[in-house]
Amino acid sequence: MGAIQPFLSTPIEYLKGVGPVRGDLLRKELHVTTFGELVSCFPFRYIDRSRFYRIAEIREELSFIQVKAVIKSVQTLGPPRSKRLIATVADPSGTMELVWFKGHRWVADKLIPGKEYIIFGRPTRFGGRWNIAHPELEIPDVQPPPLGELLRPLYSSTEKLKSKGLDSRGISKLMKNLLLLDRFYVPETIPEEILKSLKLIPRQEAFVNIHFPESPDKLKRAQARLKFEELFFIQLRLLQQKYLRLNRQEGHPFVHVGEHVNRFYKHHLTFELTGAQKRVIKEIRADLGSGKQMNRLLQGDVGSGKTLVALMTMLIALDNGYQSCLMAPTEILATQHYHTITKMVTGMGVELRLLTGSTKTSDRKEIQEGLIGGGIHIMVGTHALLEEYVQFKNLGFVVIDEQHRFGVAQRAKLWEKNQITPHILVMTATPIPRTLAMTLYGDLDASVIDEMPPGRKPVITRHAFESRRLELFGFLKKKIKEGRQVYIVYPLINESETMDLKNLMEGYDAVVREFPLPEFAISIVHGQMKPADKEFEMQRFIRKQTQIMIATTVIEVGVDIPNASVMVIENAERFGLSQLHQLRGRVGRGSDQSFCILMTSDKLTNDARKRIQTMVHTSDGFVIAETDLQLRGPGDLDGTQQSGILDLKIADIVKDEKILKYSRNLAAEIIEKDPALELPENQRLCQHLRLIHKYEHNWGLIS
Ligand code: ADP
Ligand code: MG
Repeated sequence: MGAIQPFLSTPIEYLKGVGPVRGDLLRKELHVTTFGELVSCFPFRYIDRSRFYRIAEIREELSFIQVKAVIKSVQTLGPPRSKRLIATVADPSGTMELVWFKGHRWVADKLIPGKEYIIFGRPTRFGGRWNIAHPELEIPDVQPPPLGELLRPLYSSTEKLKSKGLDSRGISKLMKNLLLLDRFYVPETIPEEILKSLKLIPRQEAFVNIHFPESPDKLKRAQARLKFEELFFIQLRLLQQKYLRLNRQEGHPFVHVGEHVNRFYKHHLTFELTGAQKRVIKEIRADLGSGKQMNRLLQGDVGSGKTLVALMTMLIALDNGYQSCLMAPTEILATQHYHTITKMVTGMGVELRLLTGSTKTSDRKEIQEGLIGGGIHIMVGTHALLEEYVQFKNLGFVVIDEQHRFGVAQRAKLWEKNQITPHILVMTATPIPRTLAMTLYGDLDASVIDEMPPGRKPVITRHAFESRRLELFGFLKKKIKEGRQVYIVYPLINESETMDLKNLMEGYDAVVREFPLPEFAISIVHGQMKPADKEFEMQRFIRKQTQIMIATTVIEVGVDIPNASVMVIENAERFGLSQLHQLRGRVGRGSDQSFCILMTSDKLTNDARKRIQTMVHTSDGFVIAETDLQLRGPGDLDGTQQSGILDLKIADIVKDEKILKYSRNLAAEIIEKDPALELPENQRLCQHLRLIHKYEHNWGLIS
């Protein structure tokens, strides 16, 4: 093992140009401690010096340009203390100016009118003319550009690094010091056979060319090689994990379909299951009976009937002598799940309890005893379920609702306690684009409920500008007079909770003025209320004692009130697409036509406009999720930050979808043939995987 990469694991201080001070900074600012980590800091962009622009082609969006132009005149302007040197240059397409604020004398000597130069720098528009401040100048045609100059790499840096000379250029210099060492050696990680069949360049060549491309083509090949490598090893790891789970990890066998399930199905279910629900239940039952641990992701739009599937699975657990628990991200949701399930199983002798942060101590004691004694069959709750004292007699099945709100490690807490890992069903109503799911949940099995219960009318979605508020209020009054209820939701802007609250309270005041008692009563729920007060307000709304619910996004997930048929989203431009979709899912649950009205200010950014239009035009959660991914990029999607898995160095799951797909297919083929990666041809893979493993601690907790 130790012999794998002696060179790349050399401490960074051993590099020319890095002393103790810079070494310390590199460690703190970039987490770079070794040669290997330095060489893995890839440039985020390149300045293409292989291309020459004509002056007439210069545009605002070109951050750096290179032109060949002749100096026409040189002059010094301004008062003595703030003199500047200006050179006018021209090519056949036009003229521009070069400006120096410092070092005039030295520069002026070099500028020879009538002579042609290669000019390189960042153009700005000033006084109707293009100019470049402090450009770099070269005389053309002397020699080919030196290493790293044809496509000049740009590296991310920080203020602290810059203060020690490690701006992009400084980092580039270090990189050169490293790459030019005779000893520079990067071991190959991918078997020859694969390199050949995919026409990938060797790893060492890729590392050299990612930092100092010999040509644009070489750069492309270096990128392709490194992107593939990054995605491929993620997939190998995920699929190996999955293989191990399915083949080595024992699961509780749920073999019976017993009394509770049958009774529930025959007597308590007031509707027919949808085809999609039936299919998913079948998939789950196959897992449960396999003797292996189930680890399944259940995706389905809000209202598609996931909770029901979870309940039926909990009843199967019960029939096999096991306890279940359902964990929800908020107290409101947990409470609601508790009530819904209680209602559905009344008279069946199912013992069900709710545990949240506000459960009384005396009740906790009773719950504690019931769980350990086995008297409680189903436990519903929030994070409170993760506390030490919550011990089950025999937890066999865990449902995690809206899982992206739970941290990975937190989830693991629930089942580490048990000897045999319980079966796990992760439910999410935020559809996850395929590429993301592949990367983020690549080791889980996936089920999708892609069919809504019958009789649902699609929600009509409209976009309205602030100027039409009176019309909006009129519409709401009409709906309320017809007996419907209305949600009005305000964004959490996150900058300051007090500001958010102010925003909400102002909205509240305006609504109170417009909708007076006794005709209209209003509930309000926001994040800074005590749970008991929130619950009280929710209950008033549920009991139809109030007609309008004003809320922040606390109602985003799961709340199910069929009579509420209008959702107004204020400042809709401030919400992300998946949030808008979640919010809209709160209506359209009854038999009445429902409406979602997106209120925005008159000025919208392009992205905001695209989000609003997407909402108006489609209710397909997967289309929305894809658009969201395109607009925001994977880094910003809910839950991906905490996973750490999508901390990709070079690949982009949106742009590199093709590479992702074939790397997954290839990884699947390899794991199928050689799950433990023991074959001689897979030794490189095995070793590199082990190396990655050492660096990433939270790996494996995802399941
Ligand atoms: P989800 O958890 O996916 O948001 P729920 O399970 O909460 O969905 O179901 C939403 C509503 O639809 C609930 O009121 C539920 O009782 C009802 N429902 C679920 N499945 C069906 C079905 N097959 N036919 C009719 N109504 C259903
Ligand atoms: Mg739900």
